[in-house]
Amino acid sequence: MGSAVEGITIALSKGRIFEETLPLLASAGITPLENPETSRRLIIPTNREDTRVVVVRATDAPTYVQYGAADIGVAGKDVLIEHGGDGLYQPINLGIARCRMMVAVPAGFDYERAVRQGARLRVATKYLKIAREHFAAKGVHVDLIKLYGSMELAPLAGLADAIVDLVSTGNTLKANDLVAVEHIADISARLIVNQAALKLKRDRIVPILDALSKKEAP
Ligand code: AMP
Repeated sequence: MGSAVEGITIALSKGRIFEETLPLLASAGITPLENPETSRRLIIPTNREDTRVVVVRATDAPTYVQYGAADIGVAGKDVLIEHGGDGLYQPINLGIARCRMMVAVPAGFDYERAVRQGARLRVATKYLKIAREHFAAKGVHVDLIKLYGSMELAPLAGLADAIVDLVSTGNTLKANDLVAVEHIADISARLIVNQAALKLKRDRIVPILDALSKKEAP
């Protein structure tokens, strides 16, 4: 499946993942010829005639690779857990776009006490699977509320008691009077590869994996 039968197609999302993947691709001899921040093109050629980049939404990268519309992609561990990873080979932790998945509550909310007392918490998040598994493992009863953006607003507006979200510098939490109360997981971006493409285009994909493996995070 997929249109990139002969060449190599790499799925990348705009922003942090694109910027931080560029030097890694360069080490594999691949340079995109346009920047998606300034170009509106969604398919970007590279210096290599047989290799192109498709610009996708971060949460769509695993889907493009799963169905073979892209041979290779880069996706955050958070996105991969939510996606489930079907049909994907995940050989390399690129160590880029690092952050932490955290539980956060409004400053002043006694989270530990609420948990101890067995309160049923309302938790807003974009990461339903991660949140469900985390609270189930702790035996905490929660009602999960799916949001698509600005989770920080939910406790402030009275929609939820807590949120599960990514935290990098912690500035967003601080600016909204929220505090992190639990660390769920360390997150970073992984290389993902379509399993069929790895077999069919081994001669071209393996050198890319080798170049990126040399940069692999500890
Ligand atoms: P910060 O203020 O630096 O802690 O960043 C927090 C905000 O950026 C939250 O809205 C997060 O959802 C988002 N964020 C932080 N790190 C990442 C990441 N690696 N990938 C996607 N979103 C992120």
